[in-house]
Amino acid sequence: TEPTLHFKRVILKLSGESLADSGGRGISAHEAGEIARQIKQAHDTGCEIAIVIGGGNILRGAQFSGSNSLVHEATAHYMGMLATTINSLAMQDALEAQGLETRVMSAIPTEKIAETFIRRRALRHLSKGRVIILAAGIGNPFVTTDTAAAQRALELEADIVLKATRVDGVFSDDPEKNPHAVLYDTLTYTQVIEKKLRVMDGTAIALCSEHNKPILVFNFKQNGNIVRAISGETVGTRIG
Ligand code: UDP
Repeated sequence: TEPTLHFKRVILKLSGESLADSGGRGISAHEAGEIARQIKQAHDTGCEIAIVIGGGNILRGAQFSGSNSLVHEATAHYMGMLATTINSLAMQDALEAQGLETRVMSAIPTEKIAETFIRRRALRHLSKGRVIILAAGIGNPFVTTDTAAAQRALELEADIVLKATRVDGVFSDDPEKNPHAVLYDTLTYTQVIEKKLRVMDGTAIALCSEHNKPILVFNFKQNGNIVRAISGETVGTRIG
């Protein structure tokens, strides 16, 4: 049966590592192709999709924190933003190979390789059925692409932030380390903050909480889960 369309517009947050082989570095054509195939399926249900990709498979600014680092931490965050642009370009070609129309929109102007993010233009692309890939986070250092996903969800009036992870949702502890960790079906923002659960970075949670923007954390490695998440089926952990 056809999945019923639940959300009209979503932000799909992919970590940089989702594009990498299990080692977590670089870009794997196979992984990118697999994600693109799922996104195509989800898009076919009629949902508008904006993708935010991280850069952790290449570089995270926080790796350079500490006063004896040669590279200033702020500089490193800009390097991290450029890493997201590298991933965005890879994802663009992977999506277009599936027959989707796409645009990369960057928070940092890089006019030879991407459009600069302009809210109204992004909305126009979405209404024309283009998948937009939002590169360079929010364009400012000391946050992560989780914050970008939350911020863009608010300004593009997405119904939900879909955070794709390698685990089934939000657990009481790291399920890759603690076999007794319990998976939550639903959580409130307050529970996330009080239990110090690692869902998204603090700024992202604060933004979503303040504006009541729901978040769904789900396992994208499970085949069909991206479509399920977008269709509003019960999958992962829902916050909000
Ligand atoms: N980054 C930033 N501002 C942003 C988004 C990202 O400074 O708005 C930097 C930050 O250093 C971050 C890196 O880019 O660590 C890569 O993004 P992220 O860590 O979110 O990647 P992911 O963990 O999702 O792969």
